[in-house]
Amino acid sequence: MAPQAGDVGYAKLRSGAWGLRAMGELTPGETVTVTKKNGEQKTETVGRHEVTLIDHGVHLYAIETGWRCGQCGPRTRAQVRQVERDEVCLYACRACGSTVDEAAVGS
Ligand SMILES: [Zn+2]
Repeated sequence: MAPQAGDVGYAKLRSGAWGLRAMGELTPGETVTVTKKNGEQKTETVGRHEVTLIDHGVHLYAIETGWRCGQCGPRTRAQVRQVERDEVCLYACRACGSTVDEAAVGS
């Protein structure tokens, strides 16, 4: 069955990370339901736009993974701020200010 508009699946990005593959454009920050090959459904948050495969009208997006603060627990994008330290971009918890790690995809 050919993919239809609105269908979202997983795709490997050039970075090697898993991303979202959509027929048509998505809005970064919106949540989408992804159907896995085994029929299981998962909700993911759309991250930045990665690439458009013009021939097929397919767009690839990163997955916004969320963050985990050692003190406050899971954080959303609105609950962290980007900080630069030694020319590396990090995220800090808005509540306690400690550096937060990106949560692994699928966790
Ligand atoms: Zn915190």
